[in-house]
Amino acid sequence: MAWMCSGKTNDELVDNLVKARIISSSQVISAMRAVDRAHFSRQYPYEDSPQGIGYGATISAPHMHGYALEGLVQYLKPGMRALDVGSGSGYLTACMAAMVGDNGLVVGIEHIPELADQSLVDLRAHYPEWVDGKRIEIVTGDGRKGYGDKAPYDCIHVGAAAPSKPTELLAQLKSPGRMFVPVGTNNQYIVVYDKDSNGNVTEERVMGVRYVPLTDAAMQFMG
Ligand code: SAH
Repeated sequence: MAWMCSGKTNDELVDNLVKARIISSSQVISAMRAVDRAHFSRQYPYEDSPQGIGYGATISAPHMHGYALEGLVQYLKPGMRALDVGSGSGYLTACMAAMVGDNGLVVGIEHIPELADQSLVDLRAHYPEWVDGKRIEIVTGDGRKGYGDKAPYDCIHVGAAAPSKPTELLAQLKSPGRMFVPVGTNNQYIVVYDKDSNGNVTEERVMGVRYVPLTDAAMQFMG
């Protein structure tokens, strides 16, 4: 079950996510084994709960990362292009990069420069072959506007809650493409938006959640 998947090691955490049936695709399981959370979370990396990473931000709980990767698995095939909005620690960006491979690209966009810088330090230290002009690009900026330079994307993951339907981001999805995003203020839900090959968008509420808001940097510091 969600929240109950903690382990003593990265492998044990992944095993528990499999046992809880949160993750089941071989691509997701291998990516979560290949990317060790301890490289991105100083405190309790294998606890199944969000952990503070400073600047009013958290690394999301492992079960939420698992749900996100499973939800997007068809859009993280080798060679595909993804956007990770609110990339924070860089952990999920790295998992997505493990899945899209050398011919794919994952852009992580984060509005707190210190977090973007730290994620790059950690990525360079542990996955140097994925950064600096290769499969991961980390950008400092306002993710609410997406990142037009590398659009359109096969999928977009949003790691912070949008107050309402994120239309600017939907415009940067390919046809077909999929977005996994928490939406709402007091009551938040993961919404999966699917854009079909004709550009028509449908949406499905998947589960209730609690994420930090997708906001201005100044508002984030006020908590
Ligand atoms: N997915 C990441 C971070 C989750 S926390 C991880 O698991 O490590 C949400 C992140 O969104 C925080 O790092 C926060 O700084 C960032 N964020 C919030 N509003 C943003 C905005 N407007 N643009 C870009 N990033 C934003």
